[in-house]
Amino acid sequence: MMKKVYLQEWILKIDAEKTKEYYDSITVEEGCGCDYCRNYIKNCKTFSKEVMDFYTMLGIDPEKEGEFMEFEANAGKHLYMGFYHLIGEIVKRPNNGADKWDNANIIKIGNVKFTFTDKLDLVPDNLPKPVMQLEFEVMLPWIL
Ligand SMILES: [Zn+2]
Repeated sequence: MMKKVYLQEWILKIDAEKTKEYYDSITVEEGCGCDYCRNYIKNCKTFSKEVMDFYTMLGIDPEKEGEFMEFEANAGKHLYMGFYHLIGEIVKRPNNGADKWDNANIIKIGNVKFTFTDKLDLVPDNLPKPVMQLEFEVMLPWIL
């Protein structure tokens, strides 16, 4: 069932149960198996409770699907950016018309920055509609 969610100034309509069903139906192994992705997935096990609560609230399993991209290494930390799909739609964005990474649009939880968009990339065929995208940016250590 679609439910209205208020996150800072964001208003979303999401179906967390259906999103969770989708993530439950796929495996980590179906994703990319390169070292960068494996390092990201291993880091997921160390995410704080508040970060995991955020993913759980949306129905997303951060170890699965989506796209994880490593950008640069700095003082032993690696910048990861990526996204996850979820079932829902954006009702209101804080700074309409501004870039998704505009300060007003960013939700910061622990060391992770999140934003939402309806400009979608690489949507899996079997994902029920409507689809929106959660994007993240985080610095993580190399723990492989
Ligand atoms: Zn990869």
